[in-house]
Amino acid sequence: RICVVGSVNMDLVVATPVLPVPGQTVLGGPFATHPGGKGANQAVAAARAGGQVSFVGRVGADAFGDTLRAGLEAEGIDIAHLRVAPEEPTGVALIAVDPSGQNTIIVAPGANAAVTVDDVDAAAERITGADVLLLQLEVPLEVVAHAAALAAEAGVRVVLNTAPAQPLPDDLLACCEYLILNETEAEILTGVLPTDWESAEVAAARLREYGARQVIVTLGARGAVLAGPDGVVPQPAFPVASRDAVGAGDAFVGTFSVGVGSGLAAPEALRRAAAAGALATLTSGAQPSLPTAAAVDAFLAE
Ligand code: ADP
Repeated sequence: RICVVGSVNMDLVVATPVLPVPGQTVLGGPFATHPGGKGANQAVAAARAGGQVSFVGRVGADAFGDTLRAGLEAEGIDIAHLRVAPEEPTGVALIAVDPSGQNTIIVAPGANAAVTVDDVDAAAERITGADVLLLQLEVPLEVVAHAAALAAEAGVRVVLNTAPAQPLPDDLLACCEYLILNETEAEILTGVLPTDWESAEVAAARLREYGARQVIVTLGARGAVLAGPDGVVPQPAFPVASRDAVGAGDAFVGTFSVGVGSGLAAPEALRRAAAAGALATLTSGAQPSLPTAAAVDAFLAE
């Protein structure tokens, strides 16, 4: 059982021949909406990985919120604590993509910024009854810290994906069993840009000095490194004909959380996570690319 306290967004994506400069209006191409938000994406990843997932968060009382709630429910996720809060609109990300794949993104957090410590307390049973509490940094930091403390006190393992990166209080780090971060986040948090196994180890070691027990740095097409009390475990990436990296990180984090939550040893959970990350690069978009447990099994059996 996995409990996610996190963000839910609707991604509003438009193709554009060029990214506009300030003051410019550009006539764009096709427009599409995609469910997103790191919290929701990782909850879906965990559900497809075989986890029994509950979600704690907020959407607005609007059409995007209704669609997003229905989408999570269709994945089998318990949304009893995904509140509909009329004061704020549902979070949206405004995304423009040019033909080379470069993008600009503005996130309007809306209801995600209105998640409160009381929301967490109202969902305390879901959190303390879980095997893993999975967190990101797209809801207020005090909410993340409160949820982590509640879980840690109950002996529930906390997995924190430090995205988007921001300075973390020591007492939050002390509650986390696993920190998962990518290269950019590692650089922001440690000053070390991991470009290979050695520098990833250095970055992870630095985070462990700050109080994190186990640290996983993901290195895109190079794989991932786990550093913990039992030493360092390198996990090379699985070679695939990758198309679009969007969703790889979310697949990795959701799958890893289900792995450790279901009692796998960390290196085996890491291997499944890397397989899920690789599979996610074969399909465009975030949620459409998140693989099922069966797909990961089949891939690993190849
Ligand atoms: P994020 O999306 O957060 O930047 P990464 O790009 O580091 O995360 O991807 C997470 C994991 O997914 C990696 O550690 C790796 O195991 C897997 N992965 C990502 N890109 C590729 C790729 N091109 N080929 C194979 N595996 C990949």
